Amino acid sequence: MRATGSPATTPDAPWADVRDRLRERGLRWTPQRRTLIEVLFRTDGHVTGAELVERCREIDPGTIPSTVYRTLDVLEELGLLSHSHGADGREEFHVLPATEHGHLYCRACGGQWELDSDDRSVVAAVEAFDEGRGFAVDVSHIALIGTCAACRAATAASPA
Ligand SMILES: [Zn+2]
Ligand SMILES: [Zn+2]
Ligand SMILES: [Zn+2]
Repeated sequence: MRATGSPATTPDAPWADVRDRLRERGLRWTPQRRTLIEVLFRTDGHVTGAELVERCREIDPGTIPSTVYRTLDVLEELGLLSHSHGADGREEFHVLPATEHGHLYCRACGGQWELDSDDRSVVAAVEAFDEGRGFAVDVSHIALIGTCAACRAATAASPA
């Protein structure tokens, strides 16, 4: 859980030296980057690059999307963000530390659920791909699209 309030002054440990780490990667510490970091601290769950650009623009109307995307790439290389893919394939960012997980999307109601890496079905799938193909599944990239139990029940109850 990330506290709201003045996040930039009390960041979670992995983010404490983000400014120096960005500098080491050749990115200057500009007001735009500071705004993005502040927005990320206030973000819980999943957020797309476009949503981050929007939120930065609310604070700084001069936000340049390419700067945001470039900074997101570097933050991911630094291990401070990870991405997965939404039902439409778009990248969705997770602010770390977050536990690795996949996602389920319901096509009918648009619902989405997180699949923990120790979920029984995930463990079974990872093992099956490992044993069957020698393939190591990246759990954060599991994105399954289907129909949730509630929607299936609703469909079954009403005649087509
Ligand atoms: Zn990806
Ligand atoms: Zn559903
Ligand atoms: Zn997620």
